[in-house]
Amino acid sequence: MSGCGPTPPQGPHKIQSRRRRFSDAIPSPQENAQTDRAGTHTVHAIEPGPASNKLLAAVSRDDFTLLQAHLTTVGLEQGTVLCEAGDEVDQVYFPLSGMISLVVVMRDGKAIETATVGREGVFGAMAGLGIHHSRVRAIAQLPMFASCIASTQLRRAAASSKAIANLIIRYNETLLAQARITAACNALHTVEARFCRWLLQTRERAESDTIQLTQEFLSEMLGVRRTSVTEVASKIQASGAIRYSRGVINIIDLAALKAISCECYETLLEQTPS
Ligand SMILES: [Zn+2]
Repeated sequence: MSGCGPTPPQGPHKIQSRRRRFSDAIPSPQENAQTDRAGTHTVHAIEPGPASNKLLAAVSRDDFTLLQAHLTTVGLEQGTVLCEAGDEVDQVYFPLSGMISLVVVMRDGKAIETATVGREGVFGAMAGLGIHHSRVRAIAQLPMFASCIASTQLRRAAASSKAIANLIIRYNETLLAQARITAACNALHTVEARFCRWLLQTRERAESDTIQLTQEFLSEMLGVRRTSVTEVASKIQASGAIRYSRGVINIIDLAALKAISCECYETLLEQTPS
């Protein structure tokens, strides 16, 4: 099996170029205007520092020192595949903005999102405890930045710090809890309710009421056909909660969106460490 590494999305994808505000960023933000490896992209934006990730911000100074020299910040285009299901996880991603979707892909190619990872989390951390193969496809759901570390380096850090090893185990529990709720939601709740739950989650990760997503993306996240995405979006638009046009969703009535969403939005929030 090949290892993980960012694979840029097929076809044109718009890249946000607005400046991001991360006042708590360390080290000092620096201007990033380069493309140097597959999956990274040219942006003229201030890179957030590792402290934008809540897990990295919460580790002790000594533990952070173990990680710091091996962390690199990468900019990821929307749709970049960070890891395919079955591949060995050789890079671990701590999101600094945006979000990563963890998607289960069936043999016939049908896919559905089972969990998401934002600034509160990490993708691939179990590779810090030993060789680990991903059971999901990990995709950059939004244009985003992440702090990236090689699994081998994370393993070294976890071997010398019990706190880092514990953090990996604890976060895995959080992810499992999220996957359980999402599995129940996908099976029991209507596509309209799930669509709204998903939009509310994405709004928080995007830190914006405007979300740019293609029909194809939405159909994969919700596990429904593209035509169903249009029908559902039109229905929710008719309620006045959103405006949806050409892949851009504007949330215009948050209360209305919450009213249509199922309880899982709140339940997932409760499961997310603050
Ligand atoms: Zn639900």
